[in-house]
Amino acid sequence: MPISIKELKQQPDENLPVEETLDVGDAFKKHPDVAESSPLTFSGKAYTLAGLIMVEGQITGELTLSCSRCLKKFSHPISLPFQAAFVEEQTDIELEDESDVYEVGEEIDLLPYVVEEVLLNLDPVPLCDRDCKGLCPNCGTDLNESSCECKVETIDPRLADLAKFFEKDEDGQSS
Ligand SMILES: [Zn+2]
Ligand SMILES: [Zn+2]
Repeated sequence: MPISIKELKQQPDENLPVEETLDVGDAFKKHPDVAESSPLTFSGKAYTLAGLIMVEGQITGELTLSCSRCLKKFSHPISLPFQAAFVEEQTDIELEDESDVYEVGEEIDLLPYVVEEVLLNLDPVPLCDRDCKGLCPNCGTDLNESSCECKVETIDPRLADLAKFFEKDEDGQSS
């Protein structure tokens, strides 16, 4: 349910509780690191403040990410504080700093703002574990689960990096 600004204005001195289940499936569908996403929950409140509409609360839920090293899927719990200021499009309020205020129509749909907040806080290189050993660049063995006989493992680590680089290049992943 979008937040109705009309409803908020009718009770200017009260907090409007906001409890929403946000289906973020479509929003994350194209994200390379997000394998699956269940709906996220927003729990908080909305209130008016000096002509602005303030929304604050907590985003909780869970995404399934793909590990950057071993490609294994792993669960990534989400618990993020959220705070944003909105203003009606046709307002005559003078804003000192408009950069942090979003213009909205008669109601506020939190979905895009929540998605943005989650994306901002997503690790650019998601790992199933900080110590994830990844896949062998030569044979693709998951080195967390077993080892392989590849020479890559025994050569100088600096050369191993170089080997990885060429491996990527051959796969055409460097683009
Ligand atoms: Zn991993
Ligand atoms: Zn190997």
